[in-house]
Amino acid sequence: MNSSIKIALAGNPNAGKTTLFNALTGARQHVGNYPGVTVEKKEGTYQLEGQRIDIVDLPGTYSLTAYSEEEVVARDFLIFEKPQVIVNIIDAANLERNLYLTTQFFELGIPVIIALNMIDVARDRGIEIKADRLAKYLGVPVVPIIARSGFGTSKLMEETVRLAGQKTEWKPKSISYGDDVDFCLLDLKEKVEAANLLAADYPSRWVALKYLENDQQIVDKGRKVNAELSRTLEEDVKKLVQHLQDTMETYPEAMVADHRYGYIKGILKKGVLAHKYDRDRLYTSDRIDKVLTHRFFGPVCMGLVLLGLYKFTFTYSELPVSWLESLFGMISTVVEGVLPDGQLKSLIVSGIIDGVGGVLGFVPLIMFMFFGIAILEDSGYLARVAFMMDRVFRIFGLNGSSVMAYIISGGIAGGCAVPGVMATRTLRSPKERMATLLTAPFMNCGAKLPVLALLISVFFSDNKAGYMFFFTMLSWLVALVVAKILRLTVLRGEATPFVLELPPYRFPTFKGLIIHTWEKTWQYIKKAGTVILGISILIWAMMTYPGLPESEKATFSQQRKAVQASLAAEDSQVRIDSLLAIDKAEAEAGLRYSVAGRIGTNLENVSQLAGFDWRTNIALLGGIAAKEVVLSTLGTAYSLGEVDPEASESLAEILANDPGWNPVKALSVLLFISYYAPCFVTVVCIAKEAGSWKWGAFSMIFNTVFAFLLATLVFQVGSLLG
Ligand code: GDP
Ligand code: MG
Repeated sequence: MNSSIKIALAGNPNAGKTTLFNALTGARQHVGNYPGVTVEKKEGTYQLEGQRIDIVDLPGTYSLTAYSEEEVVARDFLIFEKPQVIVNIIDAANLERNLYLTTQFFELGIPVIIALNMIDVARDRGIEIKADRLAKYLGVPVVPIIARSGFGTSKLMEETVRLAGQKTEWKPKSISYGDDVDFCLLDLKEKVEAANLLAADYPSRWVALKYLENDQQIVDKGRKVNAELSRTLEEDVKKLVQHLQDTMETYPEAMVADHRYGYIKGILKKGVLAHKYDRDRLYTSDRIDKVLTHRFFGPVCMGLVLLGLYKFTFTYSELPVSWLESLFGMISTVVEGVLPDGQLKSLIVSGIIDGVGGVLGFVPLIMFMFFGIAILEDSGYLARVAFMMDRVFRIFGLNGSSVMAYIISGGIAGGCAVPGVMATRTLRSPKERMATLLTAPFMNCGAKLPVLALLISVFFSDNKAGYMFFFTMLSWLVALVVAKILRLTVLRGEATPFVLELPPYRFPTFKGLIIHTWEKTWQYIKKAGTVILGISILIWAMMTYPGLPESEKATFSQQRKAVQASLAAEDSQVRIDSLLAIDKAEAEAGLRYSVAGRIGTNLENVSQLAGFDWRTNIALLGGIAAKEVVLSTLGTAYSLGEVDPEASESLAEILANDPGWNPVKALSVLLFISYYAPCFVTVVCIAKEAGSWKWGAFSMIFNTVFAFLLATLVFQVGSLLG
C-alpha cells in the first residue's frame, strides 16, 4: 500500500487543532490560502509504516452553516475535496459544546473519527469521559489524546488509516428536530429528491435542512439551477417559520440547534460523562432531568404524569361529551317527529345521525387527550418518556420513539390510530418504524373505548376502573409482543443504533397548545364527516335491504290478524305483548334476510368457535369499516323490533338479560374488538406510510387471524372452566 490518504482536521477554535497538526506533521507542512479567500490553508503530511497521509488543517468553526467565511471554506472543502476521513478534534473539557459541530458532520454523512483532546485538562476538572461509550453511541471511533504531549496521537493515526481503508460511503444521519420541523423537512426532502436539486454534491435531506436554516450559499445555488423549485421550498419554509412562531414562538434554526444539543444530551446521559465531584455547572434542564429521568423517581413521575393525563382527559371531557350526546339525541328526536315513517327517516336517524353522532360525540374526549399530550410534547417531557421507555422497548425490538405513536393511538385509552400511524413518520429506523406502524392499532382508540366501557360495565361491573386499566395495559403488552414477533419474522433485522434527543424543557405557549391540539383533532373530525358518514349509510343499507319478500310479510300480517281476532275480547296487555312479539319476529327475520344478516349468519359457522353469534358478526364486520359503528350496529341489531319506545331498554340491559351473553363471551368479544383488523382509514394510512398496499392487507389479515385465535382460546378455555 503506497497510495496516499487524504484527511481533514476539523474542530472548534481552541480545541487544539494547530497543536495536533504540528505534532503530527512537524516540519512537513506548508501554509497558503484557500483559493479566492484569505482564509489560511495549512497542509502537511504524516508517515505511518511507509504510508503517506495528507492532512489539511481546516479553519476552526463552531458550525457548518454558511454564517461565516471560515464555515463556507471548511464545508466546501469537505464537499468538493472529499477527504476520506475527517478527524474531529474535540476539547474534552467542553464536550457538549464541541460535539455540536460533530452533529453537523453526521448530517453530512462524512466518515468521522473523534480525537478526544485535552483529557488532561478535563481530568483536572474532575471530568472523566468513557471514550468507548461515547464511541458506541456516536457510532464513530473515539481516541483520547493529549495533543500537547503527543499522547494517543499514533493510535489516532492508526485508527484513521483503518477507517479510511474501509472506504465507507457517506451516510447522512438524520437527527430529529421535533415533529413540526421533521414533517416539513420530509416534505422538502421529497421535493428536493424528485427534482435532483444539487444532488451531485449534497445529500437531499441536508439540502432541505439548509433551506430550513436559511443557508444563503445553498439557497443561492438552488435558485440558480432551479428557480421554481427553490421558490416552492422557500415558501414551504416560510410557512414553517410562521407555524413555529405561532406555536412555539421560535424559529427553525433555534429548533434545529435545540435538537442537535438534545441529541448530544441524549448521548451524554448514557453514562458517558462521569463527574467525580459535582460542579456548579448544571443548567436548569439538567437539574430538572436529575429528578425526571432519575432511575427510580423518573418512572414514578412518569406514572403519575400519565395517570394525571388520564384523569384530566376523562374528568373534564365528561361534561362536554354528555352535552354533545344530548344534542345528537335532540336532533334525532326532532327528525323523528318531523319526518314521516319510512326508509328516508330510517336512513337519516339510524344511518346518518347515529353513525356520525357516535363519532363526533367523542370529539371532546379526543380533544382533551390531545391537549394533554400537546402539553407533554411541547414542554419537552414526552422526549423524556421516550428516553425512559427506550430500554424496555428495545427488548421488544422497538425503541423509545415508538412510545409516542402508541400513546396517540390510544395507549392511555382514547386516541386515534390515524394520527398515531402518521406519527411514526418521524421514526428514523425503518424496521422499528414498520413494527410500530403495524402494532399501534392495537391500542384502545376512542372508537373502541365505548364498546369496552359498555361490555365491562355489564359483565365486569365489580371493578370497572380496574378492568379498564387492565385492558389498557394488556394492549401495550399485546402490541409489544406482536412487535417482537414481527421483528423476529417478517421485519427481522438488527436494531438500528441511534440516540433519542433530549431537547431542553420549555414552557409551552397557550396558542401553540391550541394549534397542536386542533391539528390532531381535526384529522379525527374529518374522518367522521367523510368516511364514517359513507360507512354508516352503507351499513344501514346492508342491514335494511333486501326487505322481506311479500309472501313472508303476508305471513306476519296474518299472524297479526289472528291475534287481533282471537284476543279481541281479552286483556289488552296480552294483546299488545303478542303483537309486539310478532313485530319483533318480523324485524328479526328482516334483519336475517338482509345482506348483512346473511353474511353474519354464514360467518357463524366459524365465529361460533369464539362464541360470536350472527348479530355480533354484523357489528364486527361493520367495525372493519370503522370501529365507531360496532356499538351502534350492535344496538341496532339487538334492538330491532323495539317498536314501543316506552318499553325500549338500553343495549346494556338487553345484553345483560340475553341468555346468549355471559362474561366469557363478553371477554372473547372484547379481546377480538381490541385486536382485530384496524379500521379502514387506518389501513389506508398504514398502506400509505409503508408505501405498499401489501402492508395494509397484511395488517387486516394478520390482526384478524391473531385476534380470532386469541378470542377462540379464551372462549373455549373459559367455557370449559365455566
Ligand atoms: P486551535 O485553535 O484548535 O488551533 O488550538 P490550539 O492548537 O492553538 O490550542 C489551544 C491551546 O490549547 C494552546 O494553548 C495549546 O497549547 C493548548 N492545548 C492543546 N492541546 C492540549 C492538550 O491536550 N492538553 C493541554 N493541557 N493543552 C492543550
Ligand atoms: Mg489554530
